[in-house]
Amino acid sequence: MSKDKLGVNTICTHVGEVKDEQFKGAVSPMYLSSSYEFLDVDVKRYPRYFNTPNQEYLSKKIAALEGAESAMIFGSGMAAISHMFLAFLQKGDHLVVQNTLYGGTVNFIKEEFPKYGIEYTFTNGYKARDFEAAIQENTKLIHIETPSNPLLTITDIRDITQLAKTKGILTSIDNTFASPVNQKPIDFGVDMVMHSATKYFGGHSDICAGAVASSKENMERIWNVSKNLGGSLSDMTVWMLERSMKTLGLRVKAQTKNAMKLAKWLNKHPKISKVYYPGLKSHPEHKLAKAQMQGYGAMLSFELSEDLDSYKFQKALKLIKSSMSLAGVESTMISPHLTSHALLTEEERKAVGISDQLIRFSVGIENAKDLKADINQAIEQLLNA
Ligand SMILES: *Cc1c(COP(=O)(O)O)cnc(C)c1O
Repeated sequence: MSKDKLGVNTICTHVGEVKDEQFKGAVSPMYLSSSYEFLDVDVKRYPRYFNTPNQEYLSKKIAALEGAESAMIFGSGMAAISHMFLAFLQKGDHLVVQNTLYGGTVNFIKEEFPKYGIEYTFTNGYKARDFEAAIQENTKLIHIETPSNPLLTITDIRDITQLAKTKGILTSIDNTFASPVNQKPIDFGVDMVMHSATKYFGGHSDICAGAVASSKENMERIWNVSKNLGGSLSDMTVWMLERSMKTLGLRVKAQTKNAMKLAKWLNKHPKISKVYYPGLKSHPEHKLAKAQMQGYGAMLSFELSEDLDSYKFQKALKLIKSSMSLAGVESTMISPHLTSHALLTEEERKAVGISDQLIRFSVGIENAKDLKADINQAIEQLLNA
């Protein structure tokens, strides 16, 4: 059976299972050994070498989903991204990175790169020309995030990889928001794909993990650094992640369908002034999203009308949780100006388009009618207060 031919749900269910040869159980056994035979074995296994049976086999599922030769699982999304960056950047090298980026990645770059003598430039936008303008002689890696947080801009993946290839620069992408169910960046020439598996891969808001998928050669380079940095994931969590990933395709497709329904509904709502969702025809990069994504994802943002306070709105919600993280089966909302972008000044927030009225919505699997009713009752509460 060729893995390339399998559908996404079949990969989710079957690829990378650890076979239970002893008892023939239906699911992967959990191998908790931190100590394995050392003499006369081909593979010297150890949890921090990222090669226990559960780590090794779940990596195959992630590689198959991304259409990559190889993958590795990490203790968090930040472990994945930091180990990946540090494997390809050393003293004197330069990173070009998209300006709209997950906050933790921004902090990692700003706080840690100076200690390693690694240079970086944040782009002024998300178009290929913005990336080109930021490239230097010593640029070794370009890192992008699409759809971006929280305004759901879409970066042209093929444009960026073509630009990078003409200059011999590697590319990486944070594919967390789309997940491989909705976007396969390797098809567009990206060298490395990373994930916060805390989000859609886990999907139940109870796991913290990360992953990188790429060619065998690139993954070997990452492994050589990762075994020193040590950000591996415990086998109990690896096992839970495998269990979660069996429904990744089902969950993300249901969430994506819900997000489209909610985006269309919010777009017509008299008390919502703006909706940011790449699935809407009014989105500036709708056509691009259609060309490079299988689905538009389950993250959207919207602006409440000026007379509604975004803090009070979230307090008034009964079903939708106000929560920092995203991508769980339950719907959650946050105000970027109170959370991820709270440290910026009002001026700086304005400059990047984050208003006090903006709400980021991670759409779950609930029935769309119940989500709509919850939003409406919260708005009613505010209007009647
Ligand atoms: C959450 C997140 C990360 C970081 O992942 P952790 O698992 O929290 O370390 C990176 N990128 C994106 C887009 C995220 O949403």
